[in-house]
This record gives sequence, structure tokens and C-alpha cells, in this order.
Amino acid sequence: MPLPSFSRINSLTVRPMVQRLNADPLAVYLHWPYCAAICPYCDFNVHLDKRADEGEQLVAAMVADLAYWRDWSGAREVSSIHFGGGTPSLLTGAQLTTLTEAVRSLWTTEGAEIALEANPNDVTEARIAAWRAAGLTRLSLGVQSFDDAVLTRLGRDHDGASARHALSHAVDNFASVSADLIFGVAGEREARLSEDLDILLDLGVAHISTYQLTIETGTAFARAEARGTRRAVSEDQSAEDFEMISARLRAAGYRHYEVSNFAKPGAESRHNLAYWRGYDYVGVGPGAHGRLWTDAGRIATETALRPTDYIRAVKTDGTALTDRDRLSAEAAAEEYVMMGLRIEDGLSLSRLADIQGQALAIDPALVEEGLLSINGDRLRATPRGRMVLDALTRALLL
Ligand code: SF4
Repeated sequence: MPLPSFSRINSLTVRPMVQRLNADPLAVYLHWPYCAAICPYCDFNVHLDKRADEGEQLVAAMVADLAYWRDWSGAREVSSIHFGGGTPSLLTGAQLTTLTEAVRSLWTTEGAEIALEANPNDVTEARIAAWRAAGLTRLSLGVQSFDDAVLTRLGRDHDGASARHALSHAVDNFASVSADLIFGVAGEREARLSEDLDILLDLGVAHISTYQLTIETGTAFARAEARGTRRAVSEDQSAEDFEMISARLRAAGYRHYEVSNFAKPGAESRHNLAYWRGYDYVGVGPGAHGRLWTDAGRIATETALRPTDYIRAVKTDGTALTDRDRLSAEAAAEEYVMMGLRIEDGLSLSRLADIQGQALAIDPALVEEGLLSINGDRLRATPRGRMVLDALTRALLL
């Protein structure tokens, strides 16, 4: 669907509905696409870290792309700056500072969460000092497991001891630390998974993101499974593993605040909550996605995938945004419902009415069957409902 130019969008009279929807703070995502090695289960947009000068050019291109976004979004308050990847812990301290300062110079960022996803091997004294100097407030470590056999099977380049060491350092130096934990790996014993949880609890990690190993098309794991080598456990086993993880973490005082995420009170990821709450977010770096409410509707953006294409696009067009699609009211509502039902706090019915232009008619059977609960303006999926989110969303929006 053709869009009005950005200047045209900005010159339109902003309707009250849009004013309400984009009054929320803005989240900024920066994608650093390089990794030291490509893991055999990964289907993210990642590239081997080969040329240092390409990295420098990419930083400059991302700074230019941020400025382009600022022209479009106008002055906004930023609640989170998130470095994801890829492996953003490969950014040098100077590069990280350049990018963080660029965001700070463009929007209001006081009190913002500034988070970095880090490979445990990259957590050194020198890097911690550089990250603190750049103003990072939160570290998210790709631990996955503390079991060397599982880590080897996953093709990770760190071992259990280095993961433990890195987490301990992170907890000592940052107020907010998160660890990723993977489950459903073939050959992983339930007792081992439980020991991983013991270690995370002992270290005082306040936020834990859990990932079920899934076999994605085109990955080395998909080829291994096609040859008959089992890499992931059955769905039933995975469900049992997750039930054990959830029960243990809830008993230890963590809130199961999102389908896959657990946090001690106050340790939730502010950045991810912005996605789940349907806020606007800037996406820069190769393959990053963004969302912005404008008077023309909800705009979904995507950037060039390959670092070289990204750099070239910024040089020629001033931005690497390759897609700027206006979502229909139905598509925007579906996205808001899908995301909002993932979190324990649920979604706002008045916001949903703003998005789709009419109040939602809820089938009372969904409440009676214990899949949904309604409390004032909040619509929530119950724990049972959260297990069948796709079907629930379809049933709601029929
Ligand atoms: S380090 Fe992370 S992003 Fe990079 S290849 Fe491995 S799983 Fe993918």
C-alpha cells in the first residue's frame, strides 16, 4: 500500500486516537549482526565477524538511520535502548558509546533501561568497565546451560564454568541481570536442568528467559534431524520440562510475567514489555523491525538484511528501511492481542478499541472455559489460555 511521504505524515493533523497510542514511551532496538561463530540451531540474521572496517561503517550507518527515525518519530521519551543480535558484546566500548550517545542526543532518555545481550566469553573486566562507562544498566547473558555436554551439543563456544563466572561478574556489576536458559535438548536430563536452575538461583539472577529448542528450517540441526540424529526432545517432554522450570521459579519468588520469562519483582525487561504492550519501537541495524503509530496508521518497518546492503542503502537513501508497510486496523489489532495476551498483565480493552475502531465483542464462553479473565479495562489470558495463545487470539478476533 503506498504511503504518504514522511513529511506529509508529519504535516497531517494528528488525530486524538493516534495521540493516545503514541503517548507511550519509545523503545529503541539496535541489531548487531555479527557472531564469532554461527550456532547450529540459530536462524537469526547473523553474519560471521570478518572485517573490522565493515563494523565501523555499520556503526556510522546505524547512527544515520537513528537520525532518520528521529525525523519521523518527532521528540519522544525513550524508555529502553536494547542492543541485540547477533552478538552485540562484540561491539567495542567506543562503538557502544557512539551508538548510545546518538540515541541520547536524539530523544529524551533520562532513566532509560540500557541493555546489552552478551556472550559469556565476552564478559571480561575490561569490557565490564567499558559497558559501565557507556551507561549500560542491564546485561542479558546467553548462558543456555551450565552443562558442558549440552553446550557442546549446541555448538556454543563457552563452557559451564565460564558461564557461571560471567554471571557472577555481571551480578556484581549491574543492578539488572538476565540469563537465557534453553531446554528440550536431546540427551539433557531433567536432573541437569534442575541443577542449572539451582546455579541461577544461587547466583541471584533476577530475570530468566527460557527457550525451548526448536528445529528451524535451514539450520544445521534441521539437517541433522533429517539424517535421523535427534537434537530436540519430543513436545511432551519439553512441556514437562517447562512445567518443572515454571514451578521451581514461581516457588522461588519469580513472577511468570510472560509466556517464556520469569522475573523477581521490578526485574522485568522494560524493553520487551514495550513490544508486548504494543508501544512504538525504533529498529536499526541489519534486519531490525520497527513499529510507529502515525496519522496514517500503524507502520511496520524492516531494514536491509545484509550488513553491506544496509551500509550501501544508508549511503544512497539516508536510511536502510526497505519496508514501510501500513498495517490494516485488523492486522494491528491482531498483533496487539497476540502480544498482550503473552503477558500476565494482559491488554487494555480501551486501547484495543482505539486500534480496531470498535469495542471487542468477547465470546463469554472463553471466560467460562477458564481461558480468559476480564477485570475492568484489562483482558488477560489465564495460565491455561496462555498455552493455546494462537487459537485464543483467532477465537477472540473472529
Ligand atoms: S551466538 Fe546467538 S545469535 Fe549468534 S549464532 Fe549463536 S545463537 Fe545465533
